[in-house]
Amino acid sequence: MASSGEGRRHHHHRNLVPLAALISREMRNDKLEKPSLRYGSAAQSRKGEDYFLMKTDCQRLPGNSSSTFSVFAIFDGHNGNAAAIFTRENLLSHVISAIPRGLGREEWLQALPRALVAGFVKTDKEFQSRGETSGTTATFVIVDGWTVTVASVGDSRCILDAQGGAISVLTVDHRLEENVEERERVTASGGEVGRLSIVGGVEVGPLRCWPGGLCLSRSIGDMDVGEFIVPIPYVKQVKLSKAGGRLIIASDGIWDALSSEMAAKSCRGLPAELAARQVVKEALRTRGLKDDTTCIVVDIIPPDSSTQPSSPPKKQNKLRALIFRKRSRESASKLAKKLSAVGIVEELFEEGSAMLAERLGNDSSTAQSTSGIFTCAVCQVDLAPSEGISVHAGSIFSTSSKPWQGPFLCIDCRTKKDAMEGKRHSGVKVV
Ligand SMILES: [Zn+2]
Repeated sequence: MASSGEGRRHHHHRNLVPLAALISREMRNDKLEKPSLRYGSAAQSRKGEDYFLMKTDCQRLPGNSSSTFSVFAIFDGHNGNAAAIFTRENLLSHVISAIPRGLGREEWLQALPRALVAGFVKTDKEFQSRGETSGTTATFVIVDGWTVTVASVGDSRCILDAQGGAISVLTVDHRLEENVEERERVTASGGEVGRLSIVGGVEVGPLRCWPGGLCLSRSIGDMDVGEFIVPIPYVKQVKLSKAGGRLIIASDGIWDALSSEMAAKSCRGLPAELAARQVVKEALRTRGLKDDTTCIVVDIIPPDSSTQPSSPPKKQNKLRALIFRKRSRESASKLAKKLSAVGIVEELFEEGSAMLAERLGNDSSTAQSTSGIFTCAVCQVDLAPSEGISVHAGSIFSTSSKPWQGPFLCIDCRTKKDAMEGKRHSGVKVV
């Protein structure tokens, strides 16, 4: 898992292109076929802790409409709604501010996975500094042309129903009950995992992490649980075929009632707004309103499409099975064209490690601006040359990487990193 991002990292050199050249390149790219988006949402509230975001007017180059991208996200709060609201308001701008300026489209997309990690951690750190309790899941989806990038903590899921009828999950559930790997990580970091014990020693309910009693192993916020409940997202980036596809993003109110297949099949053939309503309706019919239930449906539609996306799969499309292919290290445009032609979704990036050093990478150029000022790779504050601590210093990675090599962290973020790895023995923060 840790190695899957390596192929991308050596592309992260600074590629400073004059703005005029950048814009004319964007304009040319814009003439290439770009899909259109249709989207809708539906929700039934029980506790009032689900929030969502649909923003289709974001721009990579401010003021340049041909650099538009879209964001869709769900935040399922617990122990109150403050963390969900805060994350909804701040996560996007924290992610964007972690992307170096002056990148072309391809470089921008390649920089996204790392920026998402920084943005999630910064949002968590800022929210915790406010001293409020509550936490939230975050499933954050960026759609730019045919490329879909998903980052998530918690158990709000995003699935892809590709044209041809193949359904895949683009997220990983960070639930202690089902995720053995996460259970082992939490235990190794000093957390206790067990069920609620009622009088007489009978254990009930799902596996929880103690202290705190949270069922999730990753979240944003959650001051009052162990710091090994981390905000570091699982990130996956895929490129759809030119046939397009449908994204269904929903909170666990849906997924506790419906499998991915059931959700996708229940709404095929319906336009996005109706599809979202249909998925919520189907979940309520199956399980009743036991939890906040929120669903976003996004259709990525080929520009010359005369057919509705997500119509029931035709029999002759059986060969269009969704096979994720790793992109080879060198330019894979020929391969990509072949894959696209047969309706296969190409996997560009996948990484789920909870170790910040693995996620922020090895690149010495990313933390240093041309003016020689260092910035913290997580919160972007300026660092004096003597202040920055390498993300690799004192970690198990320090044997293979240079401790003076970037990216660098400020003292605050370094403290947070140690705490997330279970290295701070006062691991539990008491409010
Ligand atoms: Zn920092």
